[in-house]
Amino acid sequence: MLINKNQFRVRFAPSPTGYLHIGGFRTALYNYLLAKKNKGQFILRIEDTDQNRFVEGAVERLIQSLNSFAIKIDEGVFLKNSCSSKSSPSKNYPLVLEAGESGPYIQSERLEIYKKYAEELVTKGQAYYCFCSSERLKEIREKQITQKKPARYDRYCLENISPEEAQKKIENKIPYVIRLKVPRGEIIEFEDLVRGKVIFQTDLIDDQILLKSDGYPTYHLANVIDDHEMKITQIIRGEEWLSSTPKHILLYKFFNWKEPKFAHLPLLLNPDKSKLSKRQGDVAIEDYLKKGYLKEALINFVALLGWNPGKGETQEIFTLAELIEKFSLNHVHKGGAVFDTKKLDWLNAQWIKQISLDDLYKRSLKFWEQKDFYQSAKEDNKTEKYIKKVLIIEKERLQKLSDVGEENQFFFTDRIATSLDAIRWKNSTSSETKTYLKKSLNTLENIKENDWNLKNIEKHLLAKAGEKRGDLLFPLRAVLTGQKKSPSPFEVAWVLGKKESLERIEKVLDTI
Ligand code: GLU
Repeated sequence: MLINKNQFRVRFAPSPTGYLHIGGFRTALYNYLLAKKNKGQFILRIEDTDQNRFVEGAVERLIQSLNSFAIKIDEGVFLKNSCSSKSSPSKNYPLVLEAGESGPYIQSERLEIYKKYAEELVTKGQAYYCFCSSERLKEIREKQITQKKPARYDRYCLENISPEEAQKKIENKIPYVIRLKVPRGEIIEFEDLVRGKVIFQTDLIDDQILLKSDGYPTYHLANVIDDHEMKITQIIRGEEWLSSTPKHILLYKFFNWKEPKFAHLPLLLNPDKSKLSKRQGDVAIEDYLKKGYLKEALINFVALLGWNPGKGETQEIFTLAELIEKFSLNHVHKGGAVFDTKKLDWLNAQWIKQISLDDLYKRSLKFWEQKDFYQSAKEDNKTEKYIKKVLIIEKERLQKLSDVGEENQFFFTDRIATSLDAIRWKNSTSSETKTYLKKSLNTLENIKENDWNLKNIEKHLLAKAGEKRGDLLFPLRAVLTGQKKSPSPFEVAWVLGKKESLERIEKVLDTI
């Protein structure tokens, strides 16, 4: 596929630190939504140039996380078996494939490219070699701190080492870095698609290191070169990268490349308005799936972290397809977005109600498997059919898949503690209680096995109770569930089935 000049190309360019942060997930999602909306391409590139932060398996986990949300990558890196177009194996990651014309898409596989460009800038006088030791840099920094000056490299190597001397030092294997020569006294201005006009003074920008002494590029150099070579048209990323953008704009200028458009997304905040951090809860998107949130609810929730559908719009539940249709950077706010778990719980409950019973059953199975009460129920041959009945009852109130069965464990055990006090309605005597339980027993006994459905059970019991609803239904609920609060006794009896319901009532009748 040839890349056409007018195409819309965006990328998600994470550094593999071990997991996919919610903020990173939001960046990926917004990029993806815009790519789909504009019939463009969504590219996944791996920025792994910080070798100190290398985490085994992190790249694979990252791609896996995107896959679990059905965010489809058009170009870049993929996991083996999940890529349909022509691909080649990654040099550095055995489980990863790369597909697309602008590869490699993994920065550690592109080191030669960065070196070539960095040297080109040195030749043109827009960057320079720096041989300063870390001790010297530390000294300058400490001095600047005591003098309350901004921390900046003092340009010793630029001003004191000639190009010939620099070449000699390099030949003699003296370690060096390449620094950007940031022009003094200039203003850098750009139009951010979220924040509007943004202005920076170059006097406040340090001579950024572009190439490190280990031969690896810094984020800035690699990011700009890749965005250019991969023909990225829109850069959509977190606000924390805003202060890097003037350096990037300088690089585009020095290389004579057309700048892409920039959009910086608002910070994610804890409810106390501090920056969303690990300390105040989970920040890995995977953890939320593990906790029993549906992928649809998470996509819905994360889309709303910093975006709204526009003035007067009240819609809160969005499918991925609806988000693709409605999302636009025009409605992304500048102010930080608060991560509100209550809202997430609410959205999740709405989504649980929306999916089909079969789907809910399938998705909840792994959570059932983690429960002791389910394990013992399995030994009693509690089947898929039974669990689905429980789910029909729980669906309306369930917030997280991990909560299945928790509130209603009486569905799985008949060891229910019931004392007379617990089953007596208001001031009824024990003999009255007994009489009402017998009435319930009788009524239920008379419903044929084939007619054992919610509607019938409710109809017959209500007819029997007449005006005395509490007297009849309170003890019944108590003997069936052992709880004061539970789904209605009709629902419980329906799920338990005729035999089990009758047995539970009889057992109590025998003891009081
Ligand atoms: N590697 C950067 C990150 O980890 C990418 C920032 C950008 O999108 O430019 O988020």
